[in-house]
Amino acid sequence: VAKRAGGNRLQIFSDDMRVAVRERLTAETRLRDALSGELNETLPVWFQPIVAADTGRIIGAEALVRLRTPQDDLLSPFHFIPAAEETGMIVALGEHVLREAVRRLDLWNDHFEYISVNVSPRQLAEPDFVPMLANVLSSHPSLDASRLVIEITETALLSTSIDVRERLLTIKSLGVRIALDDFGTGYSSLTWLQSVPADVVKLDRSFVAGLSADPRKTSIIQAVLWLARSLGMTAIAEGVEDQADWDALRELGCPSCQGYLFGKPTPPAEFATALHASLQAAR
Ligand code: C2E
Ligand code: MG
Ligand code: MG
Ligand code: MG
Repeated sequence: VAKRAGGNRLQIFSDDMRVAVRERLTAETRLRDALSGELNETLPVWFQPIVAADTGRIIGAEALVRLRTPQDDLLSPFHFIPAAEETGMIVALGEHVLREAVRRLDLWNDHFEYISVNVSPRQLAEPDFVPMLANVLSSHPSLDASRLVIEITETALLSTSIDVRERLLTIKSLGVRIALDDFGTGYSSLTWLQSVPADVVKLDRSFVAGLSADPRKTSIIQAVLWLARSLGMTAIAEGVEDQADWDALRELGCPSCQGYLFGKPTPPAEFATALHASLQAAR
């Protein structure tokens, strides 16, 4: 019986493997097709509001890419970013997202402070990354570069051979700000804080969701907020989904929040509407 069960498990395992390989190839093909299409159609860049914790007013946005299939389905980045990274297609994809984000920032000028863009390890390590970034900014000469924020995750430090600190300093010399994304989920968070010239800490949503009912989470957030403040950095709480957590964050003095409570990622037109409403409410 044990042997048969083992045999069955093996069968299931190899089926899983087949599914994984097929999904992987599908992701790759879809990405390749999308990159040869009209990019704003095939790889739309959506925006999620970031709000001031005290007022709930929109102060910024995170650019989040989607992939539109020929069947008009929208795929989450989790389905195609890994394939993009491994194949190198992330370079073209990343440039598209950056150009679109900066274009929107310029277009929506004066209505809010910043847009942040995710940059993955492979992108950051690319020799052409900084020249590309400088080129994108030079297309918008009147834009203040500090209104662009680059989000990097802790894995970026571990998975590339380049001198990340050096690269980030070069990026900062352009005026662009740096955010540590998903902060606290890696295993070298404090090393990061010590060595990386970042401006913003984004508290991962695993510490944020359910915060108001969990004293340990509260302590952790409180400590990270204090640490960030002492290092001259600002903080954003990710994944704020309910009022009680927002209240708790406000009480802890967290400067900014992002999460479904304030708005999901939406297409640019819808984001512009939300931005407009937020400005009206402030008057
Ligand atoms: P991230 O940078 O940590 O982005 C936040 C993710 O959390 C987004 O998922 C967002 O929709 C989701 N989120 C925001 N608020 C809430 C909330 O209140 N509750 C919950 N449950 N989730 C929330 P999304 O858009 O699926 O993106 C997933 C990840 O894909 C991002 O995580 C980022 O690492 C990556 N990604 C997205 N766009 C890009 C891109 O243009 N380039 C690169 N390299 N990576 C990207
Ligand atoms: Mg992010
Ligand atoms: Mg994040
Ligand atoms: Mg996250």
